[in-house]
Amino acid sequence: MIDFCDADRCPAAGCEPALCRGLGLADNVEVFERSSRVIPGGVSSPVRAFRAVGGTPYAVVRGEGPYVWDVEGNRYIDLVQSYGALILGHAHPAVVAAIRAAAADGTSYGAPTAREMKLAEAITQCVPSCALVRLVNSGTEATMTAVRVARGVTGRSKVIKFAGNYHGHADSLLAEGGSGVAVLGLSGSAGVPSSAVAATVVAPYNALPEIDADVAAVIVEPVAANMGLVGPAPGFLEALRAACDRTGALLIFDEVITGFRLGLGGAQARFDVHADLTCFGKVIGGGLPIAAFGGRRDVMEVLAPLGPVYQAGTLSGNPLATAAGLTVLSRLDPAVYDELATTAARLGDGLRAAIAGAGLPINVPVIGPLVGLHFASTPATDYESAKKTDGRMYAAFFHAMLRRGVALAPGAYEIAFPGRAHDTTVIDQIVDAAAAAATEVASKRD
Ligand code: PMP
Repeated sequence: MIDFCDADRCPAAGCEPALCRGLGLADNVEVFERSSRVIPGGVSSPVRAFRAVGGTPYAVVRGEGPYVWDVEGNRYIDLVQSYGALILGHAHPAVVAAIRAAAADGTSYGAPTAREMKLAEAITQCVPSCALVRLVNSGTEATMTAVRVARGVTGRSKVIKFAGNYHGHADSLLAEGGSGVAVLGLSGSAGVPSSAVAATVVAPYNALPEIDADVAAVIVEPVAANMGLVGPAPGFLEALRAACDRTGALLIFDEVITGFRLGLGGAQARFDVHADLTCFGKVIGGGLPIAAFGGRRDVMEVLAPLGPVYQAGTLSGNPLATAAGLTVLSRLDPAVYDELATTAARLGDGLRAAIAGAGLPINVPVIGPLVGLHFASTPATDYESAKKTDGRMYAAFFHAMLRRGVALAPGAYEIAFPGRAHDTTVIDQIVDAAAAAATEVASKRD
């Protein structure tokens, strides 16, 4: 038997008490080095490895509300919030209770459930462009399948995506992705044959691309949140909608971040531009692995078993994930989104004043509850201008914040996700830390 668990002392199979309970008996370096021996780069997703900011990642043992704790027992105010998967904060009691109750009834069946029905109903009610919804396991699966559906419906192959938009790691969509692809300075990925991206056209964000009769779909982050935070220029989304209508291409909104984050209706409600297909993830699973895509009835009906476009998943519509997601959605309403926007505005105003006050070049875009940090003197409007962010300055600020107990994402192209758990006191603590951190960074500037 593999000796990896002291079952007498710890109820969770597979854990070592000192590591799992954050007893301060382990250290982050030890965990990272041991992980690196068995996991490439020591991480399950590249951005987490701190390559963009340097140093050793902290290994999390626990989260509660706005906080996470690492194995050394350090507490951080967490603005990562699982890259936007959490909107109510860590370990929200109602979400934990829902997961516990669901788990007691079994963790996966491979059969239809009433909870997946209810989650799909909730999405169709909140996002009227989605008449039908299919649940999947990750944002990557959602975008990959939405593109397949668009190709199946139109019989065309070309897909237009925008530079700096990230749609997960499906082969055809990796070209000039933001997020970790940008952080690592990659234009795409090794291992993707040119044939897989031959039908992908990359266009600059916020400019209307040429859409010809071979284009199956235009996929876009309606608010770009993987090259810092870049909003759509006035008329951009409307122009995409009109051009798709004219040419018969389908418009796919990747709302994996914006869905149920900008409001119940996502970016499409906010900008009143509606997609043919929409991808969801993150918030709809309350921190469990679930995502979805939905769209026009005639379009979605091409999916198996109704039609010829195949898609499937052993764990799709998972009982725990749907329980968590439904619990989160039941706690969201327009008043909550107003409150989140107020929180984000307070954070954005505070960060802007603190960092600019120290004499550093900074733009802090705020869109609804989303907050970006762009260390440059001019705002970003597309990938080219987003790349002007000073990555070294971000790294220095990141570490100065971490030392003061505030965890930002370890990459200059990621954004901050203040949520319901970040109350005014916590926001003001972040801003105070930012003022001291920015002063420190400014004093060490060459
Ligand atoms: N689309 C967008 C806009 C995203 O931000 C992400 C992930 N950050 C994805 C798709 C991919 O989602 P996942 O990591 O769940 O595959």
